[in-house]
Amino acid sequence: METAILSGLDASKALYQSLEERIARLKDQNITPGLAAVLVGNNPASEIYVKNKTKKFEALGLKTDVFRLEESVSEDELLSLILDLNKNADFHGILVQLPLPKHINSEKVLNAIVSTKDVDGFHPENAGLLSIGKPRFIPCTPKGIIFILKHFKIDLTGKHVVVIGRSNIVGRPISILASLKDLGNATVTLCHSGTKDLKYFSKQADVLVAALGSPEFVDASYIKEGACLIDVGINRVEQDGKSKIVGDINQESVSGIASALTPVPKGIGPMTIAMLVENTVLSAELLLN
Ligand code: NAD
Repeated sequence: METAILSGLDASKALYQSLEERIARLKDQNITPGLAAVLVGNNPASEIYVKNKTKKFEALGLKTDVFRLEESVSEDELLSLILDLNKNADFHGILVQLPLPKHINSEKVLNAIVSTKDVDGFHPENAGLLSIGKPRFIPCTPKGIIFILKHFKIDLTGKHVVVIGRSNIVGRPISILASLKDLGNATVTLCHSGTKDLKYFSKQADVLVAALGSPEFVDASYIKEGACLIDVGINRVEQDGKSKIVGDINQESVSGIASALTPVPKGIGPMTIAMLVENTVLSAELLLN
């Protein structure tokens, strides 16, 4: 079987094209969607993530500012910046890049972002809206998964979607989204570290979402022939003395058995950034209504 490669670069390009008109309409009303990115400390991976995210905003003519704070910043100082940004009309979205230093309570900080600027979709109010089927800001990675499937005309209706991983930012929200009548309409099984006999479930998947954070964990023995595979993992590994990024799926092992597969890199990664832009544009639009 030929395995189709679901390119996140192609799908995100289509989204950016569709955003151009929405951005132009906002600019006609003197509104430029803006993102405030808060970066604490000097974590090199966080630096790269924030750079990649803000680069897209700049390319589309949107506003973006990075607020850099020392690793030693106190929780109160960080909270005070968030409260200022909540009130700052230039920013329609606020992103706090994780992880935060250990002395800071990440949950407290994320919950301090006003829910109407929570473009990452992590605030309990947005998580609650999603869980009752009335989503406002959907977390970017799961939203990107639904978008890429639609882009490549992979219909979830009636399919069995099996998700590996139950985090609040990927696994749990994608399991909810895929089950919603309007967005997925699939039958969903959510597997996690407490699941007994993972293969029993994963081999039933028409669509398998691997979001467990374990390099190349899922190989051919976990899937059924013809399954569509979504590889969310971003894992840095050392191979032949070089550092490289691999997903949670052993792409070589499943090639020729799966019907479709998102690559790593250039799969779900670009979709996540595209959805951050989309959520920020949406936030600016919601302000008008
Ligand atoms: P997490 O560590 O918060 O959650 C991992 C989940 O996997 C947990 O719920 C755990 O129960 C489950 N799990 C771990 N080992 C398991 C096993 N052996 N069997 C079954 N379940 C298992 O991770 P996360 O934040 O959801 O991220 C998952 C992966 O996705 C990571 O590699 C992360 O880097 C990547 N990620 C990528 C993007 C992107 O844009 N592509 C965005 C977010 C996260």
